[in-house]
Amino acid sequence: MKKRQAFRCWNCLRIYTLFKEFTNQQELIVPCPFCNKEAVVKLEPFRKEKKSLLRGEADGDETIGYEYQFPEVIPTQKPE
Ligand SMILES: [Zn+2]
Repeated sequence: MKKRQAFRCWNCLRIYTLFKEFTNQQELIVPCPFCNKEAVVKLEPFRKEKKSLLRGEADGDETIGYEYQFPEVIPTQKPE
């Protein structure tokens, strides 16, 4: 899923949008264009199971079976 999403920088607290590909990765690196700090978003808490999915349909494709539900602005974290 590719979408434009807003993020809030953990460092300067400004909000910026990026056009990102959301796949089944655990986290996303979203560098802040204002302060140039690296920011990390953990995607797992936003992953929701698709309730409409029929069992047995997720045949080998890990991108089927869940979808991301993001808030309007995703808070980011300092990279570890
Ligand atoms: Zn920043």
